[in-house]
Amino acid sequence: MTESTLQPETAVFREVIPAGDWWVHEIKKGQTLRILDLEGNQAADTLFFSAADPTERYSADRTIQEQAALYLTTGTKLMSTEGNALLTITADTCGRHDTLGGACSRESNTMRYAHDKECMHACRDSFIRGAQEWNIELTKRDLGPNINFFMNVPVTPDGQLSFADGISAPGRYVEMIAEMDVVCLISNCPQLNNPCNGWNPTPVEVLIF
Ligand SMILES: [Zn+2]
Repeated sequence: MTESTLQPETAVFREVIPAGDWWVHEIKKGQTLRILDLEGNQAADTLFFSAADPTERYSADRTIQEQAALYLTTGTKLMSTEGNALLTITADTCGRHDTLGGACSRESNTMRYAHDKECMHACRDSFIRGAQEWNIELTKRDLGPNINFFMNVPVTPDGQLSFADGISAPGRYVEMIAEMDVVCLISNCPQLNNPCNGWNPTPVEVLIF
């Protein structure tokens, strides 16, 4: 747990992402992004791309390899597919974030829950809409493994993954400094079929310093 020294009133950008909505924005090298869990227990599915070359993007496996640990928190370098640091987490009052569970999709909702869940809105749809909004050259093929900020996905002793009740709470946040110009794409997860959002998706706020 590491608290930030940055005051919200000094932010150069603030926006609330409604429950189930998406957000795409550039973060310049040296700027700090804060994601604030306003009401608690809300998963923020997040992808990063190099702004200069979006084919270089967040890599979950490189990030896990770099820190030799599965969960993300203060000090974690968010690594790219080319082995460069995209951002570094500098503050975290939640304590643990997932990068194994992936983003929900209509297909996975059908497989995991029930056939009639196929019509429910999912992160993958939000990612595609957000990617198109930013740059028409990004397509669903550009969507790789993501980060689930505030999401609790424990790895069990026998190596299973489980989507567990969240450990975040109202007002908890994670902050990261950009090590290069990056594009951040967030899907504020609309999932209603597991406890990742406390069965009730809520807004998050993004701040840029
Ligand atoms: Zn989701």
